[in-house]
Amino acid sequence: MKGAILYGSEDVRLENVSIPLISNEEVLVKVEVALTCGTDAKVYQRGGHPKMIHTPSLFGHEWSGVIEKVGENVKGFKKGDRVVAANSAPCYKCYYCGIKRFSLCENLTFMNGAYAEYIKVPESIVKTNLFKIPSDVTFEEAAFLEPLSCVVHGVEEIDVKKCEEVVISGTGPIGLLFLLVLKNIGAKVTVVEKNEQRLRIAQELGCNNMVLVKDGKDTITEIKKLSYQGKGMDVAIEATGIPKVWEDSIKMVKGGGRVLLFGGCKPGERVSLDTEIIHYSQITIKGVFHHTPAHVKKAYDLIIKKKLNLSRLITDRLPLNKISEALDKIIKGEGIKIAIIP
Ligand SMILES: [Zn+2]
Ligand SMILES: [Zn+2]
Repeated sequence: MKGAILYGSEDVRLENVSIPLISNEEVLVKVEVALTCGTDAKVYQRGGHPKMIHTPSLFGHEWSGVIEKVGENVKGFKKGDRVVAANSAPCYKCYYCGIKRFSLCENLTFMNGAYAEYIKVPESIVKTNLFKIPSDVTFEEAAFLEPLSCVVHGVEEIDVKKCEEVVISGTGPIGLLFLLVLKNIGAKVTVVEKNEQRLRIAQELGCNNMVLVKDGKDTITEIKKLSYQGKGMDVAIEATGIPKVWEDSIKMVKGGGRVLLFGGCKPGERVSLDTEIIHYSQITIKGVFHHTPAHVKKAYDLIIKKKLNLSRLITDRLPLNKISEALDKIIKGEGIKIAIIP
C-alpha cells in the first residue's frame, strides 16, 4: 500500500509499504479520509513527539474508513462496516485508570498511520473507541471524532453553562470546534484571532463577537468591553499554544472566572502569572489534555446527531501524495482542516 512515513523534521515521504498485519483481536481499515491536525503539523515540524510517535513512522491520526478485515476474536464488527476510531485507548490497569482519570493513563496506546491506504486498529482501541458510522454521516464528518473528543473534554472540565460569556483565543481547528460545541450549549462566544480568513469562518459558524488581533491594539480591554458590565468573561479558552496568549487569557475573565489553557506550548516554555489577579479575583485555571472514553462517546453522539456544522471546517481536499503540501499549508495558517483522500 502507499503510506506517508515521517522520517524527521519536515521530512515525510510517500512510500510503498506492506499492508499492516492484524492479530485475532485487531481490525484492518481501508482509509477513506484522513484529516490534517495541528498536532500532526507540530509533529511534522519537530520531527516526532515524545508521547505519540517515534520516527520513522507512519503518521496521521484522524481518519474514517471501511473495515477490510477483522480478527477472529473481534465481536460486533465485520468487513464492509463504515467506521471511525479515536486515536488512543487507556489501559484500564494503571494508577490513573484506577482513579478513572483515563486521559492521564500511563500506558495510552496511540494509533498512527492515517495518511495511508490502510490502517490497523489495535486491540484496546477496537474494544473501547471504535464506532460504526451511520449512513447519513459522511466519512469527513466522522473523522472529526478525535479532535472533537478533546474539545468535549475541555468544555466539560471548565463546565460552561447556557448563556455564559466565553472568549476563545485562536480560531484554528480546535478553537472553531470549541465554538461549535459552545454554541450548541447556548453560550455567548467571542473569538480572538489575528487571521481574518479564520475570523470570517468563525462568524459563519455563529460566534457572537469577533476581535481581530493587531500589533499595538489592546485586545484585553476590547474583550472586557464586550462582556456584561465590562467586568470580563465568565470563561476564557486558550487554543493557540502560545505562552503570551496563556497569560492574556487569565486577564480576560471576571472575578470568579475560569480559564482553560488548552493549546500545548513547546516543551520547556514558561508563563508568568499575576498572583494578585489569581488570588483576589479567585480565578480557576485548568489544564486539560486529550480525551477519555466517555468524552469520545459524547463526541460520537454529537457527530451522529448532526448537531455541529463540521463540514465547514474542511477547507481543502488533497490526494495522499500531496501530504507535505497539505501540512505546509496548515503550518502557514492557510485553511482549517485539509481532507486527505488516499
Ligand atoms: Zn488530532
Ligand atoms: Zn491506564
